Amino acid sequence: MVHLSLNPQQSAFERLGAARRALDLMAELNPRELLVSVHGLPVPGPVYEALVSAALARAVPLPTRKRPLPEPVRLARIRLCGPGAEIDQRRVQAEARANGLARQLAVLPPNELTPGHYRQRLAALAREEGLGFEFLDRTALRRRGAGAFLAVVQGSAAKDAGIAHLSWRPARPQRVPRLALVGKGLTYDTGGVNLKTARGMFGMHQDMAGSAVALGVLLALKDMNAPFAVDCWLALASNDIGPQAYQPNDVVRAADGTTIEIVHTDAEGRMVLADTLLLATASKPALVIDYATLTGACIHALGKRYSGVFANREALLPVLAAAGRASGERVWPFPLDADFDKALDSSVADIKQCAMDGEADHIIAARFLSRFVRHAVPWVHVDLAASNHKGGLAHIPSDETGFGVRFTCNLLLDQACLKALG
Ligand SMILES: [Zn+2]
Repeated sequence: MVHLSLNPQQSAFERLGAARRALDLMAELNPRELLVSVHGLPVPGPVYEALVSAALARAVPLPTRKRPLPEPVRLARIRLCGPGAEIDQRRVQAEARANGLARQLAVLPPNELTPGHYRQRLAALAREEGLGFEFLDRTALRRRGAGAFLAVVQGSAAKDAGIAHLSWRPARPQRVPRLALVGKGLTYDTGGVNLKTARGMFGMHQDMAGSAVALGVLLALKDMNAPFAVDCWLALASNDIGPQAYQPNDVVRAADGTTIEIVHTDAEGRMVLADTLLLATASKPALVIDYATLTGACIHALGKRYSGVFANREALLPVLAAAGRASGERVWPFPLDADFDKALDSSVADIKQCAMDGEADHIIAARFLSRFVRHAVPWVHVDLAASNHKGGLAHIPSDETGFGVRFTCNLLLDQACLKALG
């Protein structure tokens, strides 16, 4: 038996962290069953939710090649008893499963999770889950003129890069807004010919975290039978070096005809996302959200406890911050004023890929991406500074946080973000 004192004033982030610490105390016992009872709180629901979420997060087995294998978590049953012991079970389970999947993918080594292998996993998952699946390979992307994406992958010996499109439709189609999710899926980022240093490169197999979160959100919404259609577009690529690799001063053309002057090959994320955003917004969804481990500047600005958010509708910014506070996956808004574009002026192309000095690169990157959102579709960009936090974050015990699933579910379902955009 573990007793836990809770302050009813605490934030969702603090509550989830306290729940994790409480479960730490019984980790050695590895119980098969958990009995949770909350007393003395006027609104106990969120505490039950936090404890169950923390228990489920801990129970997710992360792939490992290290022997001996850790003892499997035995937890098979969680019982809630006490006054007000009610939670939205379906939602808690959906979010936990989606977060777990995002973390399991992020842990995989890059010689296993190649773009080709990732594609196979996605195809298998789509079959199992009854999701639509198509894959735009290099030939299909060439036909669409997606030269920004193709520039990044032309240096890869394996020709397995492409854009995966998964979709979910509710059983009874209603006149509902459609949501598009976009994710950066760089299975490895060497930096390209502007090669990263050893320290900067180590860990770059997790440059696909955005794609894993977008996929997780799609699955969670499907599991909860959300009443709107969802499309998910994942840019699967590896930023490699080689004789064919793209280089600074190249000029390439994105699928909408925009010409881009390459400045730094390590700014590959915005290149693959440019063409992916063009695809995702072509059919004019009500809202598009992209997730990307995009810039070091965002980490410099916020650290790894928060992620940065941007939106092309200023009214969305307080809603995004509120979703971050309420979900415990905290986000902080950054500006997106047009005068930042000055840094992207090019004398040889429509736009530069990035600025050389790197000042405010998270904002510059967002300005760059905003050009590739068609039809002025309402757009949210999440720069995932918090996708990996040493020692875990809130209720998540692993370095890989799967950050973004709870935040987005809160945004869509509790802040009624889609309805507001109607
Ligand atoms: Zn990079």
